[in-house]
Amino acid sequence: MTRVLYARPIKESLHLNLKSTVQKLKSNGVTPWLRVALVGDDPASQIYTKNKKKFIEGLGGKCDIVHIEEDITEQSFKAKIKSLSSEKGVHGFLIQLPLPKQLSHLDVGNLIPPSLDVDGLNSLNMGELLKGDMKGNFSCACTPKGIVTLLDYYDIPISGKNICIIGRSLIVGKPLSALLTNRSGTVTLCHSKTENLQYHTSNADIIIVAIGSPKFLKTHHLNPSKNQTIIDVGINKSKEGKLFGDVDFENVKESVAAITPVPGGVGPLTILSLAQNLLQAAEKTL
Ligand code: NDP
Repeated sequence: MTRVLYARPIKESLHLNLKSTVQKLKSNGVTPWLRVALVGDDPASQIYTKNKKKFIEGLGGKCDIVHIEEDITEQSFKAKIKSLSSEKGVHGFLIQLPLPKQLSHLDVGNLIPPSLDVDGLNSLNMGELLKGDMKGNFSCACTPKGIVTLLDYYDIPISGKNICIIGRSLIVGKPLSALLTNRSGTVTLCHSKTENLQYHTSNADIIIVAIGSPKFLKTHHLNPSKNQTIIDVGINKSKEGKLFGDVDFENVKESVAAITPVPGGVGPLTILSLAQNLLQAAEKTL
C-alpha cells in the first residue's frame, strides 16, 4: 500500500511548538518580524507572499509585504532593499522571486544581510551549509529544509541511502544535495544535461524532482523492487488553474512505497521552514 506523505500532520505537530516559541520571544519583548519585498504584481507571487504572511501572523509574529513597482531600476532597487532591510526590529527579510527582467540577474541572497536571510540564499549561509554545520546555526534554504523535515517525520531513512535529485537550482537542488550529504545520504544530482536519467532514478531509494515540468516523472523512471520514495517539489499550474507536480502521481503511485502529493506535500513545508528560520533569527537577538 503506497503511503501518501501529506504536509498537514507535520504542520499540526510543529505548530504548537512554533507558537510557544513566539510567545516566549514576545514575553522577552521581541515580536518576530518578517519583511517581504514583492516586486510587480505577478499573481503567483502575490499568493505565495500572502500565504507566508498568513502563516507568520497565525503564529503571533509580524509580517509586512512591501510592494515595489515592476519597472524599478537596478540602482533604485538595491537602494530600496538596503533601506528596507536595515530598519530596526526586522528579524527576517526576503525578496520574493521571480524578479522582473531588468533585475533577474541579481544575486538576491547577497543583497540581504546574512543575519536576516531567512531564505538561506546568502553566500555565508550557503557556505555554512556546505561546511556541514550540523547544529543548524544558520538559515538553511527553506524547501530543502522542509523536505528533510518531511523525511524525518515519516521515518524515511536518509543515511546510507541512494538519493537522486533532479534539478540543480540554487534554491532547491544544490542546497538539498548538500543537506542530504550532511545527513550521510549518497546523493546524485541530475539536470537537463544528465545522460541516461533512468539509470540514476532506477538506482535510487529516494527520488526528488524539482524541474518545473508537469508530470515529468513516470513509471519508466522507477524500479518498483526498491520500494522507492518520491518527493515532488514541482508546482505547475494548468490553464484551468489546476496544480500539478513534476511527478505523474496517478501513473506512478502504485509502483512506489511513498509519494508526496501536489498540492499538500512539499509546498506547505517550505513556509514552515521559513517560520523556523525567522524564529531562529529572532532568538539570536535576545
Ligand atoms: P529552475 O528552473 O531554477 O531549475 C530547474 C532545474 O531542472 C534545472 O537544474 C534544470 O537543468 C533541470 N531540468 C529541467 N528540465 C529537466 C529535464 N527534462 N531533465 C532533467 N533536469 C531538468 O527551477 P526551481 O528549482 O526554481 O523550481 C523547480 C520546480 O519546483 C518548479 O516547478 C517550482 O515551481 C517548484 N518549486 C516549488 C517550491 C515549493 O515550495 N514546493 C519551492 C521552489 C520551487 P539545467 O540546470 O541543466 O538547466
